Amino acid sequence: MPIPLIYMIIIAAGIGLLPAYIASRKGRSFLAWWIYGALFFIIALPHSLFLSMEQGSKRCGFCGATSKMSAPYCRKCGYEFM
Ligand SMILES: [Zn+2]
Repeated sequence: MPIPLIYMIIIAAGIGLLPAYIASRKGRSFLAWWIYGALFFIIALPHSLFLSMEQGSKRCGFCGATSKMSAPYCRKCGYEFM
């Protein structure tokens, strides 16, 4: 007996929450990563884990917001990067 499509959608949405959660903690869109994770979980999970290694952004040590690598100050709280 094949698994009904609705169950597959529910399972996909459930496992898609994991990369969405990881990516959202790194300042990415939760909804976009949820859809991405549900459709391509095998790719989205390692992708979300390696997000912090991407060049071009850094995390503020004071408020946790991500800013561009070249930014001298945090765009959110004004914390000065070293
Ligand atoms: Zn900050």
